[in-house]
Amino acid sequence: MTKLAIRKVLIVGGGIGGLTAAIALRRKGIEADVIERDPNWSVYGVGIIQPSNVLRALHEIGLGDACIQNGRGFQGWRFCDAQGNLLGEAGSHNVLGPDYPPVNGIRRPALHKILTETTLGQGTLVRLGVTLSSWVEDLEGVDAIFSDGTEGRYDLIIGADGAYSKLRQQIFGDMSKPSFTGQGVWRHNFERPRDLDWGMLFFGGKSKAGLVPISETLMYLFVATPEPGNPKHPTDQLHTLLKERLAEYGGIVKQLSEQIVDANDVVYRPMEVVMLPEPWHKGRVVLIGDAAHSSTPHLAEGAGMAIEDSVLLAEVLATNGQNVELALTMFEQRRAPRAKLVYDVSVRLGEWEMAQWNGQPHGDVGALMNSTYTTLMQPI
Ligand SMILES: Cc1cc2nc3c(=O)[nH]c(=O)nc-3n(C[C@H](O)[C@H](O)[C@H](O)COP(=O)(O)OP(=O)(O)OC[C@H]3O[C@@H](n4cnc5c(N)ncnc54)[C@H](O)[C@@H]3O)c2cc1C
Repeated sequence: MTKLAIRKVLIVGGGIGGLTAAIALRRKGIEADVIERDPNWSVYGVGIIQPSNVLRALHEIGLGDACIQNGRGFQGWRFCDAQGNLLGEAGSHNVLGPDYPPVNGIRRPALHKILTETTLGQGTLVRLGVTLSSWVEDLEGVDAIFSDGTEGRYDLIIGADGAYSKLRQQIFGDMSKPSFTGQGVWRHNFERPRDLDWGMLFFGGKSKAGLVPISETLMYLFVATPEPGNPKHPTDQLHTLLKERLAEYGGIVKQLSEQIVDANDVVYRPMEVVMLPEPWHKGRVVLIGDAAHSSTPHLAEGAGMAIEDSVLLAEVLATNGQNVELALTMFEQRRAPRAKLVYDVSVRLGEWEMAQWNGQPHGDVGALMNSTYTTLMQPI
């Protein structure tokens, strides 16, 4: 067996991107240490959508079946007016074949459990409540200095520290701060009615709501809304504010809205985006996932892009790691067009929604989504 040039990597950030990177690297025989600043390694409780290209990437690192078993597969999306009258449906693309669902919904804590157990099971060292203070690079590798005063020697550092990446700021300065798109997303889990086995979208006059199956018993409700000025909503009022935003809906959404009573059950996030121009690396430090490219959730591909980054980066490092600059450039050349496509289309879909809510003309959403997913179903 050829000796690997990249043998030990430090991953900064223990989210979806960082953990899938650790798992993918280990499968290629590359050791990884993970540092995560959150001492509790916590995730919030709503769900995440995994289209077929994302299930394919998870499958490649041995996690596809676990995600499907712990989530709820579904065929595609049904479209309704605000009162819940069915307007049409569209099956989603499926690249894995008839044994797999085209889309999987999964609770974020369930995905986190799969990722953390696999990471730890592979023997990866995960240090919680620790960040990277600084690093010193030489021709052979990198010396990392941690916030707890300890040090470590690595061949490469992977920054998977999210949209507000400190590593990105340290390497590239403030050139790419996240920017607010004008929309926010409100989410709340509910018991899933047995017959709700597709994703559902409801088109309101001033917002878009949806229902996503995420387990045998659960689904989540989301509503995307205009949030002019990016207000900091009081956390103890989130339930009242969500109910106000659902007031225009009838049918099942209205029934669910009546069950919203606790601000702690509501998750609100403003839509904020980042697209770092290439290169995503400097020397022996490379950024992946939201740290390099963070999009709005219109295509439900943000975490998917982080997972695809991880799969490809591990492959490139295992095969071309003897020349770090070349390997990282190859990685970026293959990843940037896909990440940029997701970013551009997601932002455009948000703009079209806001135009529609303002009574202005907009493009053909279905055609744009279909052509984008067709591209994303091509191999990474
Ligand atoms: C409303 C909403 C809905 C979404 N829905 C979907 C969906 O359905 N499907 C989908 O694919 N994507 C979805 N996304 C996008 C998805 O959540 C992100 O793309 C994904 O979480 C990115 O993963 P990441 O690991 O790159 O970053 P993050 O999830 O942000 O993880 C970064 C990790 O790094 C840690 N960290 C940060 N700074 C440091 C530091 N200095 N040192 C050490 N650790 C650090 C953080 O604590 C965190 O654990 C959605 C996003 C939003 C906002």
